[in-house]
Amino acid sequence: MVKFDKLSYPTTGEKIEVVGNKLKFPDKPIIPVLEGDGIGRDIMRATRRVLDAAVDKCYAGKKKINWFDIYAGEAAQAKYGEVLPQDTFKAIKHFIVALKGPLTTPIGGGFRSLNVTLRQVLNLYACVRPVKYFEGVPSPVKEPWKMNVIIFRENTEDVYAGIEWAKGTKEVKKLINFLNKTYKLHIRSDSGIGIKPISVTATNRLIRKAINHAIEHGRKSVTIVHKGNIMKYTEGAFRDWGYKLAAKEFPNQVITETELEKKYNWQQPEGKVVIKDRIADSMLQQILTRTDEYEVIATPNLNGDYLSDACAAQVGGLGMAPGANIGDFVGLFEATHGTAPKYADKDMVNPGSLILSGCMMLEYLKWQEAADMVYKAVGDTIKQKRVTYDLHRLMEGATKLKTSEYASAIIENMG
Ligand code: NAP
Repeated sequence: MVKFDKLSYPTTGEKIEVVGNKLKFPDKPIIPVLEGDGIGRDIMRATRRVLDAAVDKCYAGKKKINWFDIYAGEAAQAKYGEVLPQDTFKAIKHFIVALKGPLTTPIGGGFRSLNVTLRQVLNLYACVRPVKYFEGVPSPVKEPWKMNVIIFRENTEDVYAGIEWAKGTKEVKKLINFLNKTYKLHIRSDSGIGIKPISVTATNRLIRKAINHAIEHGRKSVTIVHKGNIMKYTEGAFRDWGYKLAAKEFPNQVITETELEKKYNWQQPEGKVVIKDRIADSMLQQILTRTDEYEVIATPNLNGDYLSDACAAQVGGLGMAPGANIGDFVGLFEATHGTAPKYADKDMVNPGSLILSGCMMLEYLKWQEAADMVYKAVGDTIKQKRVTYDLHRLMEGATKLKTSEYASAIIENMG
């Protein structure tokens, strides 16, 4: 068994295993949990109660989550004297599935984003963000129910790779000189420089995950979103490699949009997923104006960042948007908003994002009944207009609940 410096894992429960090329889920898995900073404490407490209640009600003790507290951010600083200890990486790698609250990232100097570091070190190459409407949530659009997409955002490359140098440094001067001389460019000497790598390796594994999801969940299309008209050898290549992979690895399960038109006269054949692509700026319009034409989206890192939040806004904002960072096997399920420090420990904020990320986690464990029970209870609680302050200020005649009361209302609605 794995050894930790300052952690002891639960004595009951089992480890999720990789057997062959598949995950094997025990009935009582040990799941590491990172509470996070700021409001992480409030929302994690609420989320654990809701998930435990659903599992208990669905499986009557046959299945159970054995939570295992691990540390990052302020809590890790206090326990270990560092914000991201090796114990934390080790625990997530070893136990494979983990739940995480938000972590503070200071702007400018200080340490690099803990979130980005976790994703890169654990090779969690797909940021997965489902965006779906819950009836009754205030939305800025007329037909929010048309939104039901799942975004697969590449998580390790692009301008997020962290390869950049500040204006005036020795490194940037050397780089500018080299580029200007070797390639006869005219980069201004007072520039900072960032590098945008996009590889066929990272593209293929991301697009493969998106297509597999579409096939397994009976979704109609996968849309590759890129800016290939401008950045041909990074974003354009992402699109080309995506089509190539789809044709090579899924020849009997996918067709292109061109085939849909030419061969099938826009009548989508049963059991086939349509692969299409859109340019990122156009996609930001399309998702607003032709929302229900999109189901699964695969995109590089920066486009995915903008698109995920834009989609979330259409269904009522980040308070309700779940997310996960997933690699070949390891899955880190997390709230998509930050630590909102001004609300920390006030038992006030909306735990919806983390609760729904917890539902994604239950689905990953194949505990669909428990996930469905939570989805339904969250939906019913919102329909009853029993909500936290953020939704309360936007809804007529709603009852304002604390974070803990909202969790209790969801549990009550599980029947
Ligand atoms: P934020 O923490 O997401 O909060 C911004 C605003 O969003 C809040 O003031 C609040 O709006 C609303 N909000 C966020 N979560 C909410 C919830 N659960 N319920 C209701 N309202 C919620 O963004 P930030 O202030 O820019 O970032 C704070 C820290 O979090 C930074 O250190 C940042 O780096 C970090 N961060 C971490 C993650 C992560 O761990 N994945 C993600 C993003 C940011 P109102 O004030 O209008 O009510």
